[in-house]
Amino acid sequence: MTAVERTQREPGDDVLIEVKHLKMYFPVTSGVLVQRTVGYIKAVDDVSFVVRRGETLGLVGESGCGKTTTGRCVLQLYRPTAGSVLFDGEDLCSMNGRELRGMRRYMQVIFQDPYSSLNPRMTAGDIVGEPLLVQGLATDRRAYRERVAELLSLVGLRTSMADRFPHEFSGGQRQRIGVARALAVNPQFIVCDEPVSALDVSIQAQIVNLLEELQEKFDLTYLFIAHDLSVVRHISDRVAVMYLGHIVEIAGRNAIYATPLHPYTKALLSAVPIPDPVIDTQRERIPLAGEVPSPLNPPSGCVFHPRCWMATAECQQVIPELREVQTGHFVACIHAPGYGSP
Ligand code: SF4
Repeated sequence: MTAVERTQREPGDDVLIEVKHLKMYFPVTSGVLVQRTVGYIKAVDDVSFVVRRGETLGLVGESGCGKTTTGRCVLQLYRPTAGSVLFDGEDLCSMNGRELRGMRRYMQVIFQDPYSSLNPRMTAGDIVGEPLLVQGLATDRRAYRERVAELLSLVGLRTSMADRFPHEFSGGQRQRIGVARALAVNPQFIVCDEPVSALDVSIQAQIVNLLEELQEKFDLTYLFIAHDLSVVRHISDRVAVMYLGHIVEIAGRNAIYATPLHPYTKALLSAVPIPDPVIDTQRERIPLAGEVPSPLNPPSGCVFHPRCWMATAECQQVIPELREVQTGHFVACIHAPGYGSP
């Protein structure tokens, strides 16, 4: 057992999801007549974390850093190249298609874009009720209708809206339909994949509040993916920061916002607006130069070194492991306070 596995899973923890050394490499092929694999896009590269029952783990990073791929691997929508994903102790990666279909009842997803994730030709009621039919949970027509009505009202929609089509709803209402669909089968775990990114700021808080209420009511466990640290602040118990396929920092919410240790986390946090304009103009901004490098050809050593203002020559050689530097606070940076020798 590695240091990461040992220390992220404390004795007595009620862990629902355990991800160990997860890798997702997508092959890149070339050739006209015969396709050859010429490289791999390392979208997720040796990621380990746990999600405890009833908690929300925020997963944050710029687009292209592997957050969505990680979420999809956890749900086995992508079958990982290597590593394991345990759901309540059962390894999802070793299950066949039939076994996984059975597990879908316990794991659901809410997608980013409420405009494209709903079938425009289905009514809201049919969208919400479809998982009941797929999982064989509707005993008869009446029970089905009652459950659909219950789900719509749980997410704050009128039951009379069941016969409307997605284009008749606002963006926020569509995302409520997506939430109701995810709830239909009484899941234990939901991957919320940027569920508010496509919504107006005024609507974002309503959806986040709804997700929190539902979590409380049904004891749900969330992996909440976002590209913006300000979005996950309210809802997360712990936050993991991803960069180019790696987790570079994980800590409790208060620790990550008050004392971020990784230069990438510091840069992301410095871009989060503060409501007080006086404080906002006084604080130091850490600009992130350039774009996230291609995961097809990641930099040597610490993958963040081409964009890191603290980088030294050593950073180009050493791949920093994720290490616990304070209780429950893990960081992968050889120059972070308390990290010790590389
Ligand atoms: Fe920056 Fe070096 Fe730390 Fe990587 S290891 S984050 S390059 S200081």
